[in-house]
Amino acid sequence: MQTIDRESAGSARVAIVGGIHGDEPAGVRIVKRLADELSPFEPADEGGTDGVESDGLVRLILANEPAIEAETRYTDADLNRAFPGDTDSDEYERALAPRLAAELEGFDAVLALHTSHSAPPPFAIFSDLTESVRRTVTGLPVDHVVDASGLRSTTLDSTIPHTVSIEVGRQGSEEAVEFGYEACRAFLRVHGALADESPTFSETTVVKGSEEVPKGGGEPHVHYANFEAIPEGAVFAEDDVYTHRVEEPGVVPILASERGYDDIFGMYGRVTGVLRPPGEGDTRVYPRDERSRSGGDGADGENDADRSERVN
Ligand SMILES: [Zn+2]
Repeated sequence: MQTIDRESAGSARVAIVGGIHGDEPAGVRIVKRLADELSPFEPADEGGTDGVESDGLVRLILANEPAIEAETRYTDADLNRAFPGDTDSDEYERALAPRLAAELEGFDAVLALHTSHSAPPPFAIFSDLTESVRRTVTGLPVDHVVDASGLRSTTLDSTIPHTVSIEVGRQGSEEAVEFGYEACRAFLRVHGALADESPTFSETTVVKGSEEVPKGGGEPHVHYANFEAIPEGAVFAEDDVYTHRVEEPGVVPILASERGYDDIFGMYGRVTGVLRPPGEGDTRVYPRDERSRSGGDGADGENDADRSERVN
């Protein structure tokens, strides 16, 4: 693990984590680029100044260096399934998880960078909705956020308070690097760490993951893109084994991909509502207007533990 501390324009302590998965070069490149651009962190002078020194900090982390070096997702265990981990573990990532958690202790906001095999658009993921998480999500240039609460307890965003994960694009693409870099700058802005321009916020649609969509064999076809509403009765995906017809309204794909995953076409998700920008109401998910939720009772997706293993 490499930790690089940089100066913040404000008083918040914020962190950006890349290289959680070693085969996702975008996060590594983004972290290095930010490290080059931001000023080195100068700790407040021990001798005491006039007390105007802020204690803000931008912490940049490259998490899994051996996996990054080997260009592999992990060496012993998936780091983003290894939290809270175990310092005594023989498995590299299980021992790394608590060290990474310690580096992020007490931070006001954390952004974890990922890429996927699925097509754009990029999206964010949260497990625990705090005021900081709301600020991050509505300040990022994404239209959708996946609510992973209750799904897992072994990811970074489910373990470290105020953490949001972001899928910045397709693994290995230049677009993922460019988009992720801009997303990081937006993240720094909304938490006051970057003062180059005013932060902007927008309402973000919340999607709850419900189930994986299995893949059989033969020629795969996926007919709907991520977060695109699948009409009732339409076929989301098919191959020689499966024809996945959606029989109810309100279903959208997450991580939809024809060839990205060996055994799934992606996941089904349901729109549960929207997050509003800071200052516009409470920190909660506001249900969308009722017309688009015909028949929805809000209870869907409550028993979906471990069904969305592919999300970040
Ligand atoms: Zn990842």
